[in-house]
Amino acid sequence: MTSQDTLPFTRPDIDDDTIAGVVEVLRSGWITTGPWCARFEQALSEYFGGRTVLAFASGTVTMEVALRLLGIGPGDEVITTPLSWVATSNVILTVGATPVFVDIDPTTRNIDAGRIEAAITPRTRAILPVHLAGLPADLDAIDAIAARHGLRVIEDAAQAIGSSWRGKRIGSFGDFASFSFHPNKNITSIEGGCLVLPPDADADLARRLRLQGVQRSGLDGMEVDVVGGKSNLTDVAARVGWGQLQRLEEFNARRRDLAQQYFAACDAIGLEARGVQLPPRDFTQTNWHMFQIVPPPQVQRAALMQALKERGITTGVHYPPIHLFRLYRARGFAPGDFPHAETVGASILTLPLFPAMRDSDVTRVTDTLDAVLRQFGL
Ligand SMILES: *Cc1c(COP(=O)(O)O)cnc(C)c1O
Repeated sequence: MTSQDTLPFTRPDIDDDTIAGVVEVLRSGWITTGPWCARFEQALSEYFGGRTVLAFASGTVTMEVALRLLGIGPGDEVITTPLSWVATSNVILTVGATPVFVDIDPTTRNIDAGRIEAAITPRTRAILPVHLAGLPADLDAIDAIAARHGLRVIEDAAQAIGSSWRGKRIGSFGDFASFSFHPNKNITSIEGGCLVLPPDADADLARRLRLQGVQRSGLDGMEVDVVGGKSNLTDVAARVGWGQLQRLEEFNARRRDLAQQYFAACDAIGLEARGVQLPPRDFTQTNWHMFQIVPPPQVQRAALMQALKERGITTGVHYPPIHLFRLYRARGFAPGDFPHAETVGASILTLPLFPAMRDSDVTRVTDTLDAVLRQFGL
C-alpha cells in the first residue's frame, strides 16, 4: 500500500497456508460440514478451556440457539444493551421474547450493570450483555445479579475472542458465550460463529437445532422431534476459521500494540483536551476489536466521516442505538429512553484498526484527524 491508498477501517488477514488449505478442502470431495468442522470445534473447545463448543453459520444464530435451549420465548423478557449490533436484540425478537434495554455506562460503552436490577420483572429470564469492542462488560456484577434472581446469562462475545475478565479468558467460564467469525471480527471463517455451552446445556439439542432437528442413529436411522433450522458451518469456512485461530494470539498482540500507538498519537495531538473521548485504556482485558472515539456533539459525524474519507481514511459507525430503529420504535421505544446510548451512539466513530495495518498508518489517521478537526473548529 502506498500512503495515498485508502485505508479501510478493518481488513481480514488470510495467509497462504489457509488459502492452500481451502483449495485442498474444495478438491477433497467433501466441502460442507465434516472433518474440518469437527477439528475447528475441537480447537475452539481447547481454546475455551475444554468446554463444549459448537460451530454455526453465524454468530447471530448461536444466540438464537442459546435462547431456544433455555426455552425462552413469548412472554419472556431478556435484558440487553441498546448500544450493539442490532443482531443482539433481533435474536430476542426472533424467539418471540421481549428485549428490555438497560442504558450503557458512557465510559465503557457497555451495559451499566448498576441499572440492571431495576429492569428485572417476574418475566425476566436472561441477561444478554455485549462486550463492545472486546472490552468485557462487568461480569462480576452481571453474574452476581443473575445468580441472585435465577436468571441465565448469554454473553454476546461476538467481538471478544481473546479478551479476558480477571485473568480468565472470555468464554472459558460462566454461562453461555457466543462468538462471531464475520470478516470484521478478530478472526474470521468468512461467515460463522460458535457457541460455548455451560455444562447443564443440552448439546445434543443444540446440534439438532443447527440442522433441521434431525437425529441420526446407526447407518439408516433418522428421527425428527423439534423444528431445527439450517445453520451448520461448511468445512471450507471451518478450514478458514481453523487457520485464523492459529494466529489469534499474534493478531490480538498486534491490535494491542496498535491501540497503544493510537493512544500515544491521540495524546500527542491533545484529543481529549479538545473534547474527544477515547476508549478506556485497558491493555489487559480487551482484545482491541475496535478503537472508537466519541467526538463532541457539535461535530457532525457524517461530515467528519466524509472529510476523513476524502483524505483516504475509512471509518465506521458501531453502532446507532438499537431502540431508535423503526422496528423498535414501533414497539414503543423513543428518543430519550436511554440517553447515554443515544449520546454515544450519535457520535461514536471507529478508526481503522487491523493486524496488517502499519505503524505509520496510525499517525496517518491521527494527523488527518487532527487537520480535519481543526477545520471543524476543534
Ligand atoms: C458481529 C456481531 C454479531 C453477529 O455476528 P454474525 O456472525 O454477523 O451473525 C452480534 N453481536 C455483535 C456485538 C457483533 O459484533
